[in-house]
Order: sequence, then structure tokens, then C-alpha cells
Amino acid sequence: MRDEIVSYRDMCDREGIQTLQRGMNYRLRTSYSVVLMSRRSNAPYADRILKDGETIEYEGHDAPRRDRAADPKSLDQPRLLPTGRFTQNGLFAEAIEAYQRNERDPELVRVYEKLFNGVWSDKGLFELIDYKFVQSGPRKVFKFHLRATEDSQPPLPTEAEIVHRRLIPSEVKKEVWKRDKGRSVLCGQTDHLHFDHDIPWSKGGASITAANVRLLCARHNLQKHDNIE
Ligand SMILES: [Zn+2]
Repeated sequence: MRDEIVSYRDMCDREGIQTLQRGMNYRLRTSYSVVLMSRRSNAPYADRILKDGETIEYEGHDAPRRDRAADPKSLDQPRLLPTGRFTQNGLFAEAIEAYQRNERDPELVRVYEKLFNGVWSDKGLFELIDYKFVQSGPRKVFKFHLRATEDSQPPLPTEAEIVHRRLIPSEVKKEVWKRDKGRSVLCGQTDHLHFDHDIPWSKGGASITAANVRLLCARHNLQKHDNIE
């Protein structure tokens, strides 16, 4: 899957919206939905990338907090609002069920992952293919499965590189971002940035530290991979 670094502002501009605040946005624009995920330790939901490297398990969202009502974390995640309309969970689940009945193509969902404050990764377009409603502690939660589309595949030479790329820890990314001042170290461009690991995966074994990770723009990132091939 893609891992293109964007600022919060870039992310909102890409979606043509002033401020992107909700995590789940069914049909924010006309042709696809948008979700915001986080794997940080303080994340409100348990989002993760499965071992296949191309499926995201995205947790549904809690009922809104109301005065004097129970803690939303103790309540089943709702499919319906009190008014009877669908919540975002419900809209996503309905789309999956219609797809599974062969009534439509899978809903396309663009995924952004929060890396740290103000810095996000555009992970590209995914297909919303399945969900489960499962027990989690005292209550039940939605677990949505999003599968990377061909369009979201980066022009990388090997699967190992993709796996490697997503294993650069957030703390290292943060340090590299600060050190490289949010610019491609080769040309200074600030758009379409990627975290690039300097040591080829095939040489293996080197631990990932800020010393062997750098920021590259998409053009220089591509050039590098062309050179390897
Ligand atoms: Zn560059």
C-alpha cells in the first residue's frame, strides 16, 4: 500500500474540505469515502494493518457522548442513531452487505493514517469488503476490512520493500521529519514525500533508525527504485 506523507492541510485540500475532523466519512465526495486511522499508542480506536500487508482492519466508531449517559466505551458501537438513521458504522455496514449480495461494487475508501500531530500518510484507495461485529471487553465493536486496490500500489520493486516501508516506527518518522525539515533531502520539494530507507532490504539486519531513513519526494523515490532494477 502507499505511504505518501502529507500535512494536515494537504490532506484537507485533497478532499476539498476545510477541516477533516470525523474519522469515518461515508461518501465525503461523490465517488468514494474517507477514513482517518491511527496506530499510535494514544489512538481512540484499535486500527491495524494485517499480516498480509494489504488489508487494514478499521474499528468502527462509538456512540456520541451525551450528558449523564453511560461512557460510550461501555456501549455497543451503534449501527443506528436514535432517530433511526444510519450512523457511519451503519452506512459502511450497509455498503458491505449490498456488495456481498452482489448488488454493487465494493465501496472505495481513501485511508489516511495519522503519524504524529499535523503529519499524515495517504495510504491510497481501498475496497470495503467485509466487517464483523465482535466482542471487545464489555461491549461489541465493528471491525471493517479494507483491502488495498491496484491503484494504491506504489511503484516499488518488491513486496519486501513494501513490508519494510510500513515497519518504520512512528518515532523514527517523527525524528526524520524534523531533521529533514519536511523536505526531500535531494531537491527540497515539500510535496508527495516518502520515508525512504537507505539500506536495501536484501542486505538485511540493519535496525531502522533515523540515521538510515530520509525524506524523498516521489520523483527521487522512483529514480532510486529504477536504479535498483
Ligand atoms: Zn526530490
